[in-house]
Amino acid sequence: MRITFWGAVRTVTGSMHELEVDGRRYLLDCGLYQGRRQEARERNLKLPVEARTVDAVVLSHAHIDHSGNLPSLVRNGFEGPIYATHATVDLCRAMLRDSAHIHEKDAEYLNKRARRRRAVLGEEVSGEVEPLYTLEEVERTLPLFSAVGYRAPLEIGEGLSCEAYDAGHLLGSTALVFRRRRNPGELRLAFSGDVGRPGLPILRDPQPLPPVDYLILESTYGDHLHKHEEVVLAKLERIVNRTAGRGGKLIVPAFAVGRTQQLVLLLHQLAESRRIPDIPVFVDSPLAVDVTEIYRRHTECFDEETNRYLWDGADPFGFRRLRYVREAGESKALNDLRGPFVVISASGMCEVGRILHHLKNGIEDPRNTVLITGFQAQNTLGRKLVDRLPQVPIFGEPMRLRAEVETLNELSAHADQAELLRWIRPMTPSLKRIFLVHGETLQAQALAARIREVYGIETTIPDRGDGFKLS
Ligand SMILES: [Zn+2]
Repeated sequence: MRITFWGAVRTVTGSMHELEVDGRRYLLDCGLYQGRRQEARERNLKLPVEARTVDAVVLSHAHIDHSGNLPSLVRNGFEGPIYATHATVDLCRAMLRDSAHIHEKDAEYLNKRARRRRAVLGEEVSGEVEPLYTLEEVERTLPLFSAVGYRAPLEIGEGLSCEAYDAGHLLGSTALVFRRRRNPGELRLAFSGDVGRPGLPILRDPQPLPPVDYLILESTYGDHLHKHEEVVLAKLERIVNRTAGRGGKLIVPAFAVGRTQQLVLLLHQLAESRRIPDIPVFVDSPLAVDVTEIYRRHTECFDEETNRYLWDGADPFGFRRLRYVREAGESKALNDLRGPFVVISASGMCEVGRILHHLKNGIEDPRNTVLITGFQAQNTLGRKLVDRLPQVPIFGEPMRLRAEVETLNELSAHADQAELLRWIRPMTPSLKRIFLVHGETLQAQALAARIREVYGIETTIPDRGDGFKLS
């Protein structure tokens, strides 16, 4: 058995690892690399493996940095199965189509800009930018998905099985255990995917894994400790009340997949227990609307608390004052609506999408609040809001930031250092080595040091392209 690390090494995006067993080749995840535009484009276009020689892909979960480059793999000749849980398959259908749409729009924009420049500067025409992949390529990818259940070992190759455990990170998310039969016994490799946290809204807690020989472990928050969920609920309550008291709008940029559904459930809880006033809440994002429908269908992934809503005949993702907005016209109408109300919209880092219109309309009014709910990468509009720059550009126009800005980073769906250390404990008696991926170097180093200190296990932070023989 041999493992080679191709993505999400010393960074958090582009998850992709290659597993070779008996001359057969498997990819664990095939994620989109996100970063500076040109570098990301090249990385995503040029696959590090010969797509035709890959026998199967096993997907840990649907997030785009784990699934988003599958259409490129298919365009390059991959024809094998893509194993994923039922919920992951459904989420990927919505997310990959949305992703293709974004890439097509992106290419269109770049080409239009280049044409304008050429017209003004009289430059030579030099080829059109192609989208990273198209909707048509996504449609060719989707039939390759093969849905698997949790805790149902699946033979993915001669003498190699794979079993999915609930990772508690996103609807349908998994940690995977691979078992290679040999005489005597077996060789066991676990891949954590992204590890969630106990007590997250909607999802079950991450399941413990059995003892294994090797572990590939994420390290996003390898040097960080999160706050408790009750703190989050109380903070959200205060922010809604303060904004409503001023008659303002609470504008919430949020990732359409996962974060939006968490927020809706928390607002549902607050509204139900009358901890916030009876004001309208809008979810304004077509992708979020589609994804919420998928959440509703996959009750098999819910935790007990969320299931209780169903037993009571209630809808966890709907309450009296909540409205889902799909049509663009309805979204625009929100611009003229007077506060107080809450609007949740994508994208999460305020780079694209309808949230830009809500921000343009709202950030110059001090009665309003912008609530940031996730990590904001450098150079994004979201980061500029978090940094409270007095003036920020929206659609190329400078706007004065006079609204209040609040952050709710505690909703993270990634385990922190202590939670990761606790989660790996059941595996440790037999562990020979841990590989740390999906974390920036400092986070990974801090976690590696703690693992050595607490468990005395050899821990490696691989570089891109590093390969290791496992025996
Ligand atoms: Zn994830």
